[in-house]
Amino acid sequence: MPNVGGPSQCKRQLLMSVVHSRLLYGAQVWADKTSAIEKLKGLLSQAQRCAALRVARCYRTVSDMAALVLARMPPAFLLATKRKNIADNRKAGILHSRTEERRETIRKWQSTWDNTTKASWTKCLIPDINRLWYQGPKAVSYHMSQVLTGHGCFQQYLHSKAIVEMPDCVHCPANVDSAEHTIFDCPFWKDSREDLTRAIGRAPRPNDVMDLLCSPMPSELPEDAQQRSRIRAQASKNHKMFSDMIEEIMGQKDYIIQVEQVIKRTIKVLESFKTMDKEHVSEAKEAQIIMLFKTVSLTNNQKLICINPSQFITSAYCERGFSLMNIICSDLRSKLAIKNIATLMFININGPPLSIWNPTKYVGSWLLQHRSADDNRSTKVESLEEQTKNHCGKFYKL
Ligand SMILES: [Zn+2]
Repeated sequence: MPNVGGPSQCKRQLLMSVVHSRLLYGAQVWADKTSAIEKLKGLLSQAQRCAALRVARCYRTVSDMAALVLARMPPAFLLATKRKNIADNRKAGILHSRTEERRETIRKWQSTWDNTTKASWTKCLIPDINRLWYQGPKAVSYHMSQVLTGHGCFQQYLHSKAIVEMPDCVHCPANVDSAEHTIFDCPFWKDSREDLTRAIGRAPRPNDVMDLLCSPMPSELPEDAQQRSRIRAQASKNHKMFSDMIEEIMGQKDYIIQVEQVIKRTIKVLESFKTMDKEHVSEAKEAQIIMLFKTVSLTNNQKLICINPSQFITSAYCERGFSLMNIICSDLRSKLAIKNIATLMFININGPPLSIWNPTKYVGSWLLQHRSADDNRSTKVESLEEQTKNHCGKFYKL
């Protein structure tokens, strides 16, 4: 599934439920054993991570813990324990609602999240899984997941993966371009933050992300219905502004980096032209060594030797030829026929120097062909007025 476009996160989660059905098959039997062994828990998480990355549209380098939080998916070993508990309660005749079991699972997930050493940036932005689960967004976009994980088109991340040479910000003098710098600090994106800054009364900071992502918890809201709805509406507006800001910044950043990569790739290709021999160059070099080009023997070809004793030309000769053509076919002589340009170029390239050339014979021949300045038999160019007059005359004849 692609990170950009493709099915929505809800549809992806539906597909994920199929993965869970396979992954948690027989969980009632093995759940207790797995919960006690870290290695088995890790194996389950790794299998779940592959699917979670696709659900949350994350980069493939994102840790399992961060991917699971963004995909709204409790770790598999907790889901296995939950299944076992439900089955045990059913057997014992104890009525435990699914909501209570879910709350218990999220509480355990929060404890795991607090103790994990992975996903430090995501943990800094989203410390409260319980709030994210009940009040948070149901889906995160590709750009939002980049910001929340720190794995995206940030110079620091790209530098850590040896994609760029330096971790510096390309828009300001900052030494490190991380997710925090791009979204909250970089002066280049100040205009994109303006709406949100005005709405919350100050520049947004990482510890505001939880409030910007999630609506307020019901327990925190006042009792007055009007005030409650006003606070909820403002929270929803702030969330929209935050999402728009992320999309604007990350969209432009993504585009700039893509363009930069294309330019660098083009430069690399052009450089390779200089260092690597292309098909015809190697063919020519081979022909020079064996003095045979296809079926033509180069040693005894007097014509080639006569034109150019070294027999082989380089691209420099072509460049000189183009320069000469530009000199001959100037703005003032732009109406020269191709044959005449070729002739002039031939004379320039192969002809003798002007100082030793005797033009008398050619001038005589030229004059005999009545091409002198006072000759009245040469083709006469009509002036604009005459042309108009003649055309009008033809029109009246019709
Ligand atoms: Zn910057």
